Formats: sequence, C-alpha cells, structure tokens
Amino acid sequence: MPCPWRPRPRWPERAGRNMATYFHFAPAVALAVAAGTRTVGWRLMLLGAVCAVVPDADFLLVWLRFDPYSGTYGHRGFTHSLGFALVMGLIAALWRRPAPYSWHQRGLAGLYLALCTASHPLLDGLLDAGICNAWLWPLDGTRHCLGWRPIPMQHVALWGWVRLGTEMLWIGVPLVLLANGGMALRALHRRWRAPIRLVSQPVATGVKSVGFGIRPNLPDVRETRFFRERKETNRRLQRRRRVEAMDWLGRELRTRRISQGAGAAWDE
Ligand SMILES: [Zn+2]
Repeated sequence: MPCPWRPRPRWPERAGRNMATYFHFAPAVALAVAAGTRTVGWRLMLLGAVCAVVPDADFLLVWLRFDPYSGTYGHRGFTHSLGFALVMGLIAALWRRPAPYSWHQRGLAGLYLALCTASHPLLDGLLDAGICNAWLWPLDGTRHCLGWRPIPMQHVALWGWVRLGTEMLWIGVPLVLLANGGMALRALHRRWRAPIRLVSQPVATGVKSVGFGIRPNLPDVRETRFFRERKETNRRLQRRRRVEAMDWLGRELRTRRISQGAGAAWDE
C-alpha cells in the first residue's frame, strides 16, 4: 500500500503533530506482566519501556537536518524498522552480564527487548495518521504502510482527553487482555505441571481425582518418592512384626510346655 503522506507547509515542525502516542511504553509493561516477574524483572521492564519509546529519538536527526522528514533516516525511518528492533535485541542479549545469566536467559531478555522495540512501529503503523514506517530497513529504506490502520487519530489533537481516551480504548484494552491472557496461560501451565501432593493418604489419592480432570502426563502415584519410602517402611515394619510374633509364639510354647510338663509332673 503506497504511503499517502505528503509534507505539509512548515514541516518538520507541523508534521510531527500526530507523531507520538502516550502508550508507547505500555506494551513493555503488558509483555512483562504476561511473561511473569521471573522471566522479566522490573529492571528489564524499565529497559523495555525505554526501548519502546526510543525509536522516536529519530526526530533529533530531522532537527539536525541529517535527513529530511520522509527520508530513510527521517521520522519513522530506520528506527521504526524490524531490523532496528532485531539489532536492539541482539545488543541487549550480548550486553547482559554473562556471569549470573545463562545464554537462555540472555536470549529471552534480548527477545523481550526486541519485541518492545518492534511494538513502537506497530503502534505507529496502526494509527491512521502520520507518515508510514521504513519497516524493511536495512534491506529497503522506503516507507510501507500497514494494510489495516484502525486507530482514529486524524483529527485528534496531540494533547488532551480525547487522545488519551482513544488510546486507552484502542491500545490499553488489547494490552490488558494480552497481559491477562499471559497470566492465565502461566497459571494453567503451573497447574498442569504441579506434582501430586501426597501428605497423609497416598493410596486413597488417585491420579484422576487430583486437581481437575484427567492429566495424562503425570507420573504414576506408585513412582513418587513418598510412596516408595512408605512402602519400604511398611515392609520393614511387617518383617519386624513377623519376628516379634515368632518370638512371642516361641515364648508361649516354651512356657506352656514347661507349665504342662510341670503340671504333668505334679499330676503324676
Ligand atoms: Zn514513532
């Protein structure tokens, strides 16, 4: 879809009227909530919020007349591309201290920051106002518009309640749903992988009666450590009781024989 944007008079000053949204930081928070605090800590979340806002720093390049507003290095140019997001993620993954973090954690942090950075051009691209993004930089510096730009911002002033309300409806609500969806999925995953708790009645607790419904990937109850230990203890206990019983029997027989013998001797 060709970009319909044309420079207005007195740009770049006036052209930036529809540039920003208040909610650029919000995807970072929503993704962090969805992923959970173990995956994304609050420091990483703050960094994600910075990454989600930083693409608009390209205004400096326009202001310094490095490139015109609609150039590859102008507003919504290379910083609003998927390549830029990828570079940010890679830098973050390599930058993170290697000592306490595994490659897996560093990769996850890089992925999170890349997603935060990519959320910026996505939000900008969904607004129906303003110039389009150079999505494919560094492969292609020209602007490409999304086929669907539903957020109505054309006649909304940069500051004010109307803009805030529109953004809350079109950006805030989907992000709240995203965060809650992530939380629900994590809760479901936790329930699914939770071990069976065998506290007092290991035999009475069936596999299918624990939690909700049938969980096919659970280990057999008889394989759990608690049950094995209990079985061991039972076996040892039975052996001891058997020995005790035999001792008792032997004692009884001996005393009876003696008493019987004594009685017999007395009777005689
Ligand atoms: Zn932007």
